[in-house]
Amino acid sequence: MTQKKYDYLIVGTGIFGAVFAYLAKQKGKSCLLIDKRKHIGGNIYCDNINSINIHKYGAHIFHTSNKEVWKFVNSFVEFNHYINSPLAHYKGKVYNLPFNMNTFSKLWGVNTPSEAKAKIEEQRSQYNNIIEPANLEEQALKLCGDDIYYTFIKEYTEKQWGRPATELPAFIIKRIPFRFTYDNNYFNDIYQGIPIGGYNRLIEGLLSGIEVKLNTNYLGNREYFDSIANKVIFTGCIDEFFGYEFGKLEYRGLHFEHEHLEIDNFQGNAVVNYNERQVPYTRILEHKHFEFGTQPTTVITREYPGEYAKDDEPYYPINNAKNTLIYNKYKEKSQQYPHLLFGGRLGQYAYFDMDDSIEAAMKLAEKELN
Ligand code: UDP
Repeated sequence: MTQKKYDYLIVGTGIFGAVFAYLAKQKGKSCLLIDKRKHIGGNIYCDNINSINIHKYGAHIFHTSNKEVWKFVNSFVEFNHYINSPLAHYKGKVYNLPFNMNTFSKLWGVNTPSEAKAKIEEQRSQYNNIIEPANLEEQALKLCGDDIYYTFIKEYTEKQWGRPATELPAFIIKRIPFRFTYDNNYFNDIYQGIPIGGYNRLIEGLLSGIEVKLNTNYLGNREYFDSIANKVIFTGCIDEFFGYEFGKLEYRGLHFEHEHLEIDNFQGNAVVNYNERQVPYTRILEHKHFEFGTQPTTVITREYPGEYAKDDEPYYPINNAKNTLIYNKYKEKSQQYPHLLFGGRLGQYAYFDMDDSIEAAMKLAEKELN
């Protein structure tokens, strides 16, 4: 093969692309990263308003149980001791998440784990006939019973995904932990925090010394970009890459409404979910609380889920049976092109957290670069 200018052209400067580029550079490979947006970092990019880091594309809380991943990110930036403890707002009352003794106590007036367990057993006993949950609704009812499902899950989930809970895959709800201690930590992972000084420092660290071109669309100039690199790593939508030849994959879109307020504290917590259907947004973020900010003003963001239309940002892959079938066709096709590699939430059509994306990039780097 004739050598081209770069070993790798990496499309997308989000976590997956940035981690791969960093690891490739360590191995002496030359990389060019391009991004159609005007900034690096993909969805972890933060704006800064009045010295508050704004999670422009939704809340990003780093959590992992993978020690290697944790050590890796800490080699670029230190993390603070933020622990995600979101609240759920339902019909004027505020409850703790994830479902724990604080939630059960407020919901049912129970005070001990055995009282709470007895209540949950009573609630879910009517769903003992569900052996293999076929969808999210069955999974949730089997796990929690009526009160929790109808207060916290059904309306929020249907608003978030824009589909009946009976048409959603069960695994989405397995992300929600359930515990019998007074512990409001949303995640079960060993390591958690927010980069001190913001996520941009992490991406800047990863991309230091690597060539990046912003406002640059690969799909609009594919021939040229293919001609300058031996391999292409694409982190955008895999269906768009292949011209939708097997059909469109579905994504859930999000719309963010940012508001700057002349008060120092709006909701006393970084994340408050709004679980009832009548409220059009799913959550309000108050960004300063991710970093224990003491600024005199505050910025909040209302997060509205919505249908994804072309030219919107795709946020969540909808990993139901229909889409999985389509994705598998694209994946199979991609394997016919050894110079083409796909990665990240959109390239792999997977509901990845940040640590999953890092792990996936490390795995690809190990395969490619050793
Ligand atoms: N969920 C819910 N009620 C809540 C929070 C989450 O029913 O108050 C469900 C919902 O289906 C959501 C899923 O759990 O899509 C995962 O939520 P999480 O907040 O973990 O995911 P994120 O949107 O932050 O990726």
